Amino acid sequence: MVFRSTNPLQDSLTRTRQSFFGRIAGLLRQSDITERVWEELEALLIQADVGASTTIELVGSLREAVSRKRIQRADVMQGHLRERLVGMLRTNERCYLDRDGPTLSVVLIVGVNGSGKTTSIAKLARYHQLRGDRVLLAAGDTFRAAAVDQLAVWAERLGVDLIAHQAGADPGAVVFDAISAAESRGANVLIADTAGRLHTKHNLMQELIKIHRVAAKRLPGAPHEVILVLDATTGQNGLAQARTFNEAVDVTGLFLAKLDGTAKGGIAFAVARELALPIFFVGTGEQPEDIAEFSAESFVDGLFA
Ligand code: GDP
Repeated sequence: MVFRSTNPLQDSLTRTRQSFFGRIAGLLRQSDITERVWEELEALLIQADVGASTTIELVGSLREAVSRKRIQRADVMQGHLRERLVGMLRTNERCYLDRDGPTLSVVLIVGVNGSGKTTSIAKLARYHQLRGDRVLLAAGDTFRAAAVDQLAVWAERLGVDLIAHQAGADPGAVVFDAISAAESRGANVLIADTAGRLHTKHNLMQELIKIHRVAAKRLPGAPHEVILVLDATTGQNGLAQARTFNEAVDVTGLFLAKLDGTAKGGIAFAVARELALPIFFVGTGEQPEDIAEFSAESFVDGLFA
């Protein structure tokens, strides 16, 4: 039997907890708040990929609170740090796919190749299956034949239908047909892959805009979510990519893939603050079951536990 912990989100933070945040916890166990403590705290947050501007803001507001409340002990300060970290992640927190409305929800998945996009689609499909949804997949990355094949393997493994056209076909047409297929087959969740690489960034973004437009025209209100898959191990580079995607299509939330593979889980804070987007899910491994819903409180507990 495979052992599965009851808190996969916190398990996926093991490497982060054992490195930078573990060191922060160690630092804040010491007695007095000295200038060295501030310097080390700042350095550790930056090393954990929290990002320079987010770190400066965080440490600045912590310094202000420490001075205003006349806090002298580092362990007392740790509580304030946690509070601020949770607050930062909470700012954008929102329920994924609030489904009182439409009978069919269309979820568009965007992100660069290699970020874990295909695996994350499989995970999301599994997530919905376990909740009793009827899932359909759309192979909207027609740029790479291998992308369609890879998705077909997952679809078969999960027992879900996949709508795919020939390689090179118009991805807008794939999504259009997939919405019709979802309606006629009684599926209530359609998860559509999109290209993660084209000849130029401009082409890629134009393609995404077009898919978005076609989906909205075919089914008013669609896409109901546009999820950007971000590789947690790419750190600050991932942020730049995310901004580009966000400019092209209105990304509604994030899937932070490969969180288990990094010691720099601080990227979640940089992402939340700089992109002002909710993190819906994190990837905790390579299997379809390795998906965890994001929760600000649980995430921050997992950093220090
Ligand atoms: P794509 O090119 O963006 O579609 O990426 P893939 O889905 O093919 O994933 C690229 C690699 O990352 C594969 O080896 C996946 O098994 C791996 N991967 C994806 N998500 C996760 C995750 O959450 N944790 C770990 N450890 N590996 C992951």
